Amino acid sequence: MIDLRSDTVTRPTPGMRQAMATAEVGDDVYGDDPTVNHLERRVADLLGMEAALYVPSGTMSNQIALRVHCQPGDEFLIEAESHVLRYEQAAYAQFFGLSAWPVTTADQVLTPELLAPHVRPQSIHAPCTRLISLEQTHNRGGGSVIPYDSIERVCQWAREQGLVRHLDGARLWNAAVATGISPADWAQHFDTVSVCFSKGLGAPVGSALCGPRTVIERARRVRKALGGGMRQAGLLAAGALYALENHVERLAEDHANAKRLAAAIAATDGLALDPPHVDTNIVIFSVDEKLGTAAEFVSRLAELGVAVNANGPQKVRAVTHLDVSTEQIDEACSIIAGVMSHESVGSR
Ligand SMILES: *Cc1c(COP(=O)(O)O)cnc(C)c1O
Repeated sequence: MIDLRSDTVTRPTPGMRQAMATAEVGDDVYGDDPTVNHLERRVADLLGMEAALYVPSGTMSNQIALRVHCQPGDEFLIEAESHVLRYEQAAYAQFFGLSAWPVTTADQVLTPELLAPHVRPQSIHAPCTRLISLEQTHNRGGGSVIPYDSIERVCQWAREQGLVRHLDGARLWNAAVATGISPADWAQHFDTVSVCFSKGLGAPVGSALCGPRTVIERARRVRKALGGGMRQAGLLAAGALYALENHVERLAEDHANAKRLAAAIAATDGLALDPPHVDTNIVIFSVDEKLGTAAEFVSRLAELGVAVNANGPQKVRAVTHLDVSTEQIDEACSIIAGVMSHESVGSR
């Protein structure tokens, strides 16, 4: 199977497994795990932040950030297609008494003009607007890189409004490699930044929440309350450290593979890239409804050995990563062309 469902499907490489097998460990809830401590120091340095906290998932990282910045009755502003809204079960409402006000955009790029009408007046009748949350790269936006200037501008505006700025940087590494702008350059505009090790970097488990020392100390308490205090987590952190040292620069290969796949899709009748550009490792495209649904297309491809996900009634998402080679991308392209040469994409 050529598995293009997500960059989360990657398995640890032999080198990574070796690093994990030989990691020094201790009880991280006591702060005794040298490998976790090393990872937290390393990722904080890479992002130019004072401190970092290793957490089991990107979802936990984002939710902890919302918890430490906001009080019950607070509201945050966030782009309507963001991961925090679409894929995290409104955990901020379930557990922390927070509300989100989704802001609709044409291109996932938040601006002061779009946000300003959503800032609540100070009033006994209204929740308190506390924070803005951005996403880089933008997952449902097709792995798009939110332009640097727009981030600088919207974060400057938010600072002037007294709003906290959080970045869901699950794929910030991809944005950094695609643009040549360092993770620290992106991160400097935010109070906290969440990054994932288990996406394109290929580590089996974990994310980190990065920010000022006092914020991260409070985040450490929240992590424990959520059941995210892990003991000899150095085994896992070693995979993340290995990924930081060995798997960041190679993301450029995934981006090249995504562009290769996108070019083939763009050249295929009945398929259209949506968005039309591919910035990083995610390719989203639509299937002409005259030929069938995304779900039918996905199951037909699966029968032929290519796994992708439906992302909407007509939309399909394919993601490149370190477990798919350029040869496999070419094979996937010819399988897709074969399916599209028929009058319907359904099974037959
Ligand atoms: C994957 C992802 C996350 C975190 O997902 P987990 O599965 O909880 O690790 C957060 N934000 C974005 C944009 C993501 O793509």
